[in-house]
Amino acid sequence: MHKPILDVPFLDMKSPYVELREQLDAAYHRIMESGWYVLGEEVESFEEEFSRYCGAKYCVGVGNGLEALHLILRAYGIGPGDEVIVPANTYIATWLAVSYAGAKPVPVEPDEQTCNINPEQIESAVTERTRAILPVHLYGQAAAMLPIKAIANKYGLRVIEDAAQAQGARCDGKMAGNLGDAAGFSFYPGKNLGALGDAGAVVTNDEALASRVRLLRNYGSSIKYHNELKGYNSRLDVLQAAFLRIKLRYLDEWNARRAKIAARYLAGLKNIRGLVLPYTPPLVDNAWHIFHVRCEQRNELQQFLHDRRIGTLIHYPIPPHLSQAYREMNFVEGDFPITEKISQTTLSIPIGPHLQQDQANYIIVRFKSFFEGLAA
Ligand SMILES: *Cc1c(COP(=O)(O)O)cnc(C)c1O
Repeated sequence: MHKPILDVPFLDMKSPYVELREQLDAAYHRIMESGWYVLGEEVESFEEEFSRYCGAKYCVGVGNGLEALHLILRAYGIGPGDEVIVPANTYIATWLAVSYAGAKPVPVEPDEQTCNINPEQIESAVTERTRAILPVHLYGQAAAMLPIKAIANKYGLRVIEDAAQAQGARCDGKMAGNLGDAAGFSFYPGKNLGALGDAGAVVTNDEALASRVRLLRNYGSSIKYHNELKGYNSRLDVLQAAFLRIKLRYLDEWNARRAKIAARYLAGLKNIRGLVLPYTPPLVDNAWHIFHVRCEQRNELQQFLHDRRIGTLIHYPIPPHLSQAYREMNFVEGDFPITEKISQTTLSIPIGPHLQQDQANYIIVRFKSFFEGLAA
């Protein structure tokens, strides 16, 4: 029987567990034996360790990344009648957080090179109702925070980072999570710092915000059965906190492995006509959550790679403004042409701490044969 030598899934979810199996299994048994399963010491320890990692004062563990963003907006009192500036080019969760708070997401086009929100287009989207700017560090690359903060200062707006894809990314030497007024993180299993289930956190230097989010995540109460606010139930699970404490110790090393794969791709795929590679601006330290390329023949390329057992994904095939979920906003095709062009041409290829160099090399060889076939 002939077995294919290489089979490269887009995302390898199991290898992270296998590498850390002994420690993760021990943590599981420790929590099970403790008899304590909601909030408490384990969650507090993770909060302390993750805020220290980000260089920020406070971390509040919550249920997932969407709720992290939602609770920040609620805690700042942003709601009906308010507007929040969001990237047009993002995962829909960024917009949904604003909608759940009752406010209106106001999309702004990305910079064509970085694919992150274009600071030069933010100012014209500011109105009297604008309360905050919600930049996303898309694909693990920090947004242009310095000009964004300058605009926010000028108009008295909050800057809330959607750092769901950016654990360990830096901008101008500072960590994602410590670049605005507050940040929402996701620890969905596929993220750079991934739990083994859903999890998220709010990171901030703002003590008042941290205490408010702490109340909101737990029924609006800090003393059992004394409810100061109409809160939610969105707590970081104890077991996930225990797993995350272990995985946090490996985050820098695993991000370095991602960067090595990215460097391999950037060198191996350069100078292919018609292929646009990711661009990282100076002063930005990319966490390489996603490695995306762009080309006109995206669908054919995806099929070609699929036939050669290479998994790919599109981030994202339908921009939020054209999704069914936002039909009430009456956007039409052509409203955000740069975003739409990205959605039609982008393709994400495998990257992760457990991808082998020979797998990356195999992908590069296949890319070259696809583009040679086009030229022939
Ligand atoms: C993953 C993600 C989220 C949401 O995180 P969940 O934990 O899945 O709720 C939000 N924004 C972006 C950009 C994401 O990639």
